[in-house]
Amino acid sequence: MRRRVDPIRCAAFLAAAVFGFAFDAAGRSRPTAATSRTATTTTATLPSQPATYPSKRLIRAADDTAKAMLARLDSNFHAVVRPPFVVISNMPARRVREMARGSVIAPARAMWKRYFRRKPTHVITVLLFRDAKTYRHWAKKLYNNKKPPHFGYYRPNDRTMVMNIATGTGTLVHELTHALIVYDFPAVPLWFNEGLASLHEQCRVLPDRIIGLVNWRLPALKKAIRDRRLRPLRELITRDDFYGPQRGLNYAQARYFVMYMQERRLLQKFYRYYRDHHDGKDASVKAVEKIFGANLEKVESDYLKWVMALNWRSR
Ligand SMILES: [Zn+2]
Repeated sequence: MRRRVDPIRCAAFLAAAVFGFAFDAAGRSRPTAATSRTATTTTATLPSQPATYPSKRLIRAADDTAKAMLARLDSNFHAVVRPPFVVISNMPARRVREMARGSVIAPARAMWKRYFRRKPTHVITVLLFRDAKTYRHWAKKLYNNKKPPHFGYYRPNDRTMVMNIATGTGTLVHELTHALIVYDFPAVPLWFNEGLASLHEQCRVLPDRIIGLVNWRLPALKKAIRDRRLRPLRELITRDDFYGPQRGLNYAQARYFVMYMQERRLLQKFYRYYRDHHDGKDASVKAVEKIFGANLEKVESDYLKWVMALNWRSR
């Protein structure tokens, strides 16, 4: 997998906490939604969410998960249990609490308020290793992963994020987005799933929303537009080849299209409409055209102009 190693920053303003953000390794961990690309599930068929959340069952399961995981680790680890999340780390206990609050719970709350009306019914485990050495050691010992990706990765089967948190928290919020969206939009198409997750790689977290900011993916996108190499938006949102040879550019194109919706104040509206109208041929095109009130080519032309006016400076 191709990967970039650029420092990026994300400010989490909740509780005045400011955290350094890293970024995603493109295409590194395929979210569960990817495997349900062709599913026809709609929200109308999903069971309703219990009135009280988290349920007693989920609270018990989170406690059990924390105990079981701590028993497999050494005495340097602490757990913060906030169902559905179990955050475990070998950083100092105070830092674990801060990071759980600022980089897991606060972004999750913002996403639930803004987009996802359905919350996880399973425990989501977040392992935050303080440095590369302990990250590699435990990835091997716990999961027999001898060559884990530099930043971290997500294990959809047991809903566990395994992170080298010394690299920052951008990857964490990216993967968190994948872990949460599948409960609300199980058949979310890849372009949107990765576009929204990538948008959150560099962001500002407010109590009721996450605001994506310009990041390192911009220069490659602008260059592709200048060189007339960027694929039509219609292709990106209708073809099933997001992880194909152009995946690096696909991430950038999707991220900035989702950001364009954010800037036009249409992202929340689009998400809700798309979630409820994603079945059928050209559903993606129809959803974009409906929310923008214009045909796709007009939307694309305005989007490209907007992208070309953006600037990003490496810090
Ligand atoms: Zn992703």
